[in-house]
Amino acid sequence: MTDKEFASGKCVCGKVSYKINAEPLKMAQCHCLDCQRSSGTGHFSLAFFNKDKVNIKGETSFFTTKADDGPEITRHFCTDCGSRLFGTNSANKGLISIAVGCVDDHSWFKPQAIVYNKRKPSWDCMDIGLPTFEEMPPAPK
Ligand SMILES: [Zn+2]
Ligand SMILES: [Zn+2]
Repeated sequence: MTDKEFASGKCVCGKVSYKINAEPLKMAQCHCLDCQRSSGTGHFSLAFFNKDKVNIKGETSFFTTKADDGPEITRHFCTDCGSRLFGTNSANKGLISIAVGCVDDHSWFKPQAIVYNKRKPSWDCMDIGLPTFEEMPPAPK
């Protein structure tokens, strides 16, 4: 039995693409400084999926940083066009975060939280109705 495709995505040049076969487990806007630098803007929009449900085609390069709260965050990007595609977290190896802007149709994206709000630039406007955390909230059990 094959899973039904939920979404697909690719980098700017198309060398790396993926298909996602499940709904997101959580969705967030992240204002941490590494997300700001690696995106070149005020935040990253991330959807988290079960890693087994994301099939990636094409080679990425990656860079690992240490998050304030301990774990290592590895961000993957296309070696040709530089698009940041997805990330993993050493504290939860079963999860993959997808950079929502690379998804072909991301109309389903509904962030459930804003994290690292203490780093939010005043010019980066967010939905004030969302639960907001100054740093990273504890992982849900
Ligand atoms: Zn590319
Ligand atoms: Zn971040």
